[in-house]
Amino acid sequence: MTAQSAASPKRKLETGHPTKDYVSWGRYPAATHANIYKPAWNDQVAFVLTSASDASVLPYGLGRSYGDSCLNADRSLIDCRRLNRILCFDESTGVLRCEGGVAFADIIRVFLPKGWFLPVTPGTQFVTVGGAIANDVHGKNHHRAGTFGAHVRQFGLHRSDHGLVACNPELNSDMFRATIGGLGLTGLIAWADIKLLRVNGPWIDAESVPFHSLSAFLDLSRESDGRFEYTVAWLDCFAGKAPRGIFFRGNHSAATGKAFHPKRGPQLPFALPAWLLNRYTVKAFNSAYYRMHAKKGPSLVPYDSFFYPLDSVRQWNLLYGKQGFLQYQCVIPEDNPAAFEELLDRIARSGQGSFLGVLKKFGDLPPAGILSFPRPGLTLALDFAMRGERTLQLMRSLDEVVQQSGGALYPAKDARMSPALFESSFPRWRSFVPYIDPKMSSSFWRRVTGAQ
Ligand SMILES: Cc1cc2nc3c(=O)[nH]c(=O)nc-3n(C[C@H](O)[C@H](O)[C@H](O)COP(=O)(O)OP(=O)(O)OC[C@H]3O[C@@H](n4cnc5c(N)ncnc54)[C@H](O)[C@@H]3O)c2cc1C
Repeated sequence: MTAQSAASPKRKLETGHPTKDYVSWGRYPAATHANIYKPAWNDQVAFVLTSASDASVLPYGLGRSYGDSCLNADRSLIDCRRLNRILCFDESTGVLRCEGGVAFADIIRVFLPKGWFLPVTPGTQFVTVGGAIANDVHGKNHHRAGTFGAHVRQFGLHRSDHGLVACNPELNSDMFRATIGGLGLTGLIAWADIKLLRVNGPWIDAESVPFHSLSAFLDLSRESDGRFEYTVAWLDCFAGKAPRGIFFRGNHSAATGKAFHPKRGPQLPFALPAWLLNRYTVKAFNSAYYRMHAKKGPSLVPYDSFFYPLDSVRQWNLLYGKQGFLQYQCVIPEDNPAAFEELLDRIARSGQGSFLGVLKKFGDLPPAGILSFPRPGLTLALDFAMRGERTLQLMRSLDEVVQQSGGALYPAKDARMSPALFESSFPRWRSFVPYIDPKMSSSFWRRVTGAQ
């Protein structure tokens, strides 16, 4: 097939201010974009992909990726947020068809009152369906349900060379697998069919259990994974090699009668001074958090505080000040606890601990996409305020441990991994290259592969 320029769109295509509002969640690295396109209709997407003279474009969702995988510095972005229509829903199968820019928060708002929930959700509801597919996101139920991509039945993909292409496990199946976890590089997801999960209501039967060592965490995971749909732990990374933490586990509750009012939390109005977050304030936060949860027994909690505790403060990323922050999310093979302990030790010794340490044992379901990140092992996610070279040096030292252990880093959270670490994390990345849309690129992809 040959590329053909699409006819001019019927309605005027909106464009945005190139420098404003298009950052990633970590606000690092800073990037300036040449053009921002804001299509609201399919013919406008086709027009941008075939006619715009940009060196390359990249779809942009809600910018909840932390590093540069949703950025395309000096090139252009296609903001997908106006492609946000719910198209149809089959009550008998639970399959929802919606456009790629629909946010998880909107799916919950419309479908939870009807008894349906997302099959997999990350720790924020402010992600789009397109963004969730492109990073093949995982949630607290990875041990049971795998990744979000495993619940996608099919999608329509705008390509600059082939137009709008339907992809599912039978039709264009290679493109289907490349696009799940494909970092937005294989085309723009116009619409997707997602199989939702039947639930009784908005409540979760939750438990929190304190633990004091890695082996205690692993025992809790083993014991809980069969009985609980959702498991995850919070980790006090100032505790060094013998981590203490709180293990959270829960199931959708049969309780239906209790009145439910979703919370609307405050919003940080501007970036706070960077000195506010230091080892003393973070240590104090961790101790208070541990004490608060260590005493809790079983409880009935609303879905939003169970799945999305961070969403209760909107724009909490401004807490880290103007320099922004980095998230370090790795996976370490489970049979290498020494590597995991070494990571924690290096973090504790650096004095750059984070108050949002999250630990989870991934399940062993096969990956849904060629570049999917989750794989059997322990995944640890930590936030670090960006303090320049000091922070980057700590990350490089953590990279050594991850690489030697045969582990991997998560592109959705990354702003600085080396090409060598990307290669060892995703040894099959070259087999993904043929599926990249010739018009698409990203800052992340150029950085880790040397592509132009
Ligand atoms: C508080 C918080 C908690 C999080 N917790 C988790 C977690 O538990 N598990 C997890 O896996 N992730 C987690 N994340 C990361 C987040 O889920 C992913 O980065 C997600 O992909 C962001 O979606 P987005 O819509 O904001 O997309 P963006 O960040 O804007 O873009 C992400 C990628 O999707 C591509 N893309 C966007 N729209 C489209 C489209 N229509 N078609 C094709 N490609 C598209 C972009 O090009 C980019 O490559 C968390 C993030 C935050 C801020």
